[in-house]
Amino acid sequence: MRPYILAETNWKQIQETNFELAILPWGATEAHNYHLPYATDVIEADAIAAEAARHAWEQGAKVIVLPTIPFGVNTGQTDILLDINLHPSTQLVILTDIIEVLNRQGIHKLLILNSHGGNDFKTMLRELGVRFPNMFLSTCSWFHVLDKAQYFDEPKGDHADEMETSLLLHLRPDLVRPLDEAGDGAARKWKLTALREGWAWAERRWSQVTSDTGIGNPKQATAEKGERYFADVSRKIGDFLVELAAADIRDLYA
Ligand SMILES: [Zn+2]
Repeated sequence: MRPYILAETNWKQIQETNFELAILPWGATEAHNYHLPYATDVIEADAIAAEAARHAWEQGAKVIVLPTIPFGVNTGQTDILLDINLHPSTQLVILTDIIEVLNRQGIHKLLILNSHGGNDFKTMLRELGVRFPNMFLSTCSWFHVLDKAQYFDEPKGDHADEMETSLLLHLRPDLVRPLDEAGDGAARKWKLTALREGWAWAERRWSQVTSDTGIGNPKQATAEKGERYFADVSRKIGDFLVELAAADIRDLYA
């Protein structure tokens, strides 16, 4: 039993701990090319949150990892079978209820550990910060923490790519199909200049951008690359957890 994982701990242990920081991992359930499981984002969120929290707990930080929310925003994948979409407005309602509990019970720091590119919690946290002024609300997408070019030969992808495939080869090799069955993750670019250059944004129609649902070529993925990336990303987030757990939320600016 890991005392920093809510799903594993118990009422006796919980009563003896003064938790300072709750971590809410948030994933998605969606197709990941032909070779990775639908729960890829959930598996990544579970593992990175747990390893970061272990690192923090061992340094005395009283952190608690809540169960991962398994569904995310998949509004661009409505025609991809069994991609389960949660609308952002639904996420706001879920988040409000969770924060209401934490606020009432005196756990005044929350980090959402985001594991899916379609999830975007910033505007929600702005709104909830007004409604819960005693809470410190923060979010971090683990896939933005490190420079992928330092770890992978094909760092440009963003879905079922070399990075995600390497992570899954490390974390759950039993769920990864042989890489010669994977599509190449080729993605079509926008015709509109501003969107192609990235200084304007519109949602991508996923099934028109990629034929195998992947974006980024997974073929050079290895478990060794995944292990190294996993260790570094978990440690860096773990260091953040230590700092956040110890922080005085009335005195945050140097
Ligand atoms: Zn993913």
